[in-house]
Amino acid sequence: MWQALCQYVTYPVWDVYDGGGRLAELRSLQRSERWTPERLGELQLERARAMVGYAYEHCRFYRERWKSAPTIASLQDFSRIPVVTKADIGAHTNDLISSQFESAKLIGAKTGGSTGVALRVYFDEDCQKARNAAAMRTDGWAGWRPGSMIAGLWGTPPVPRTLKEKIRNTFHDRAIYLDTMRLDEQSMSDFAATMRRLEPEMLFGHAHSLFIFAQFLQQRGIAVPAVDGIISTSMMLIDSERKVIEAVFGSPVTNRYGCEEVGLIASECEEHRGMHLNSEHVFVEFLREDGSPAQPGEEGRIVVTDLMNKGMPLIRYAVGDMGVPSERRCACGRGLPIMERLTGRTADFLKRRDGSRVAGISLVEKTLTAIPGIGQLQIVQEQLDEFVLNLVPSPDYTEQAGRELDAVLRKEFGGDIRIQLNRVERLAQERNSKYRFSICKV
Ligand SMILES: [Zn+2]
Repeated sequence: MWQALCQYVTYPVWDVYDGGGRLAELRSLQRSERWTPERLGELQLERARAMVGYAYEHCRFYRERWKSAPTIASLQDFSRIPVVTKADIGAHTNDLISSQFESAKLIGAKTGGSTGVALRVYFDEDCQKARNAAAMRTDGWAGWRPGSMIAGLWGTPPVPRTLKEKIRNTFHDRAIYLDTMRLDEQSMSDFAATMRRLEPEMLFGHAHSLFIFAQFLQQRGIAVPAVDGIISTSMMLIDSERKVIEAVFGSPVTNRYGCEEVGLIASECEEHRGMHLNSEHVFVEFLREDGSPAQPGEEGRIVVTDLMNKGMPLIRYAVGDMGVPSERRCACGRGLPIMERLTGRTADFLKRRDGSRVAGISLVEKTLTAIPGIGQLQIVQEQLDEFVLNLVPSPDYTEQAGRELDAVLRKEFGGDIRIQLNRVERLAQERNSKYRFSICKV
């Protein structure tokens, strides 16, 4: 009843009160996701061409960088446009903002800074609505319906302050939060009690925080009501952790990938095989080291063009992550292209002496499943030949686990590397409450 009320009444009212636009965009996205990849490509080309023209005309940064307006006859022509880096954004924030907008009237966001670069980015109001609509579309794939109550595991949760926010929280975003900056026994058992009382339909949070909460409930034998869907976001989701989360909360995990700079980039659908790109809003390229396009199945650097943000256009922005493109069509029937998997942050790839690189996340995943006794693991590469391992032991931990881990690392990085093994109670969080399984400081 409540859900029907929200779906047909309160949400449209809210949308109008807020200036409208979100629901129209959501309906448009729900149509276009069924288009063929070719037709979606045409839409991208049209939007990308318009954005490139707009950026050249209104952003000093692009005028100075490009010298002349790029001609975009096909999406392949993008390869001639220079890539924008995090350093570019840091050094030229004001020049990237469109002269058509006052920066004070734009919506600002600060990126995490866990890679050592904290950035200010801005987007306009229409873009924010489009981003909200894109999030709602994929929330729907995960089982969310307007009015669903969300249990969020989040660092520094939002507290509704203004009347508008309170109305929104009551009628639309019905949400309860567990602050992931304070994950302890007390806060987790309190939150489990709240979940039993209010029976939220959705669970939402950073992958590893969801895992920590799930593992806590499992170990204590605390039951919570099953949810309709689980959305995991903002970081790498390890398979073994996904299984624990799904078992405890009785629902599949929908993994999602995005960033503050351009919003949602990709999300799993009901099939949970790879992630659909958010193609109507973001043009995604996968590039090899030399800048040429990676082939399907081949890992590449993720470079994105925001097709919606006129406030601060980002054209060919290197997000700092690696992923694998695919040619596979999804069994769900949507035409949105698939990213086979996210392989990690560029900065989190560990380096071998011969210059080759290892996805730290894969190494962690491999050892977690192969060596008994390891609950969680974080690999920090301090130097080419120096590693710090932070290990959370599981109940069956023995010294043997440490020896096996040592052998795996030496096989991968050389027999004479130095390894420091720390047994810790939990992995340390980043300032933005995310976790990283591998950190490369080389
Ligand atoms: Zn699909």
